[in-house]
Amino acid sequence: MTARVLVVDDVIQNVKLLEAKLSSEYFDVLTAMNGEDALEIIDKEHPDIVLLDVMMPGMDGFEVCRRIRSNVKSAHIPVIMVTALDQPKDRVAGLEAGADDFLTKPVLDLPLFARVRSLVRLKVLMDELRMRETTGQDFGMSIGSDLNRNISLTDAKVLLVEDYARVAERISRYMQDLATVDVDNAESGEVTVSNLEDYDLIIVSLGMNDVDGLRLCSQLRSAENTRRIPILVLVDEGDTTQLVKAMELGATDYISRPIDRNELLARAKSQIRQKRYANRLRQNMQKSVEMAMTDAVTGLYNRHFLSTHLDNIMSKSNDSRKKVSLLMMDLDKFKLVNDTYGHAAGDEVLKEFARRISNDIRNIDLAARFGGEEFVIVMPETNLEYAYFVAERLRMSIANEPFEISSSEEPIKVTVSIGIALAGDKNSTSSKLLVAADLALYQAKENGRNQVCSIEQ
Ligand code: GH3
Ligand code: MG
Ligand code: MG
Repeated sequence: MTARVLVVDDVIQNVKLLEAKLSSEYFDVLTAMNGEDALEIIDKEHPDIVLLDVMMPGMDGFEVCRRIRSNVKSAHIPVIMVTALDQPKDRVAGLEAGADDFLTKPVLDLPLFARVRSLVRLKVLMDELRMRETTGQDFGMSIGSDLNRNISLTDAKVLLVEDYARVAERISRYMQDLATVDVDNAESGEVTVSNLEDYDLIIVSLGMNDVDGLRLCSQLRSAENTRRIPILVLVDEGDTTQLVKAMELGATDYISRPIDRNELLARAKSQIRQKRYANRLRQNMQKSVEMAMTDAVTGLYNRHFLSTHLDNIMSKSNDSRKKVSLLMMDLDKFKLVNDTYGHAAGDEVLKEFARRISNDIRNIDLAARFGGEEFVIVMPETNLEYAYFVAERLRMSIANEPFEISSSEEPIKVTVSIGIALAGDKNSTSSKLLVAADLALYQAKENGRNQVCSIEQ
């Protein structure tokens, strides 16, 4: 997977060195030697990842990072801080300025490639999700597009897989203000706690006595309920073989022993935040799919969905399309309801109407809002007699029980006219069926409303 990496450092030798290393691994490299230039390049070139020196004259790395984060156009770009000092407080300051990761100088190849690859992988996923979210917005849906950092960390749950009780106890204590930590010693070679999908982060020790932590990482990555949960591995200082293997298996981050409390907290926070962000994007997407299919006022399927669905049903095998009944319903004198009680009351009537018809149909039937005060019910494998029976029952359930509406003291009397059509032979199409039902509905209106008419097609 190739990617464009922006290297920012005020010392030309450092820039050249990183450029050479990254180019040898087929990354595209852009360079900048101060903060202002870096921000300009980010704005124009949209790199996939930024390697950012902390100490630079003028604007330092922390400030550059904060500015990257506060701009909507760049907030999602991963930033790795490169620091000369191996001071935990610098690392923490970097992560708090919004960096995703850091490396210490001299930059070693293995951690460099491991971190860059892992962040690029994450960015590819995030870009895809963000793109789908944009598609949702193009549909006219407003889905607040927050900056990645605006994610709450409350009620975080962490699973720690470690068989050394004292270490487990210490790590839990380090994390107690951030998250609830459950410990699993994976005695059987597997994680045994239940509801794994509830965790925001899984920390796996690679130094367990009897358990192969790498194998666990691989299991967690492939299982359906854990595959989206970030994995932070604990490695022994300098054990690059294990580290590289773990990152290849899909661990999202690592921390070396001896464990520094602040670093652990900062890394855990950033992983949890990213996971929750990805979750939220996914949920928004789900929501936008739902919104594209349903009507906001009544929650019923919308006309677009109905048409697609009806086409599908009608084009199925001759057998099942033999008998599709369709009910076309239109509220009677609905304009009068609006004029008398107001538009908001009208909306409430529509909602209640939708609720009543939804409750009164079978699971295989589909109710949709066809237009303003027009509704459709599609009834597969249903003959005209049964459709008529259902329509009549619906008509009465509307007419016999006036609607209780919050904005009106007296219940509102509502009636509905219903037209039924049956798609009886293999020449019928969805549009013919709709036209026929509409004709039957017109008939019902002509005959004085509050009644059911049917046409066999
Ligand atoms: P008919 O018995 O012939 O159907 O008479 P009607 O008044 O129901 O028919 P008409 O087509 O003249 O008026 C439909 C009314 O439905 C007018 C419009 O304001 C109202 N309407 C359509 N959509 C909505 C909506 O989403 N909310 C509310 N409150 N009213 C709506
Ligand atoms: Mg009407
Ligand atoms: Mg109408």
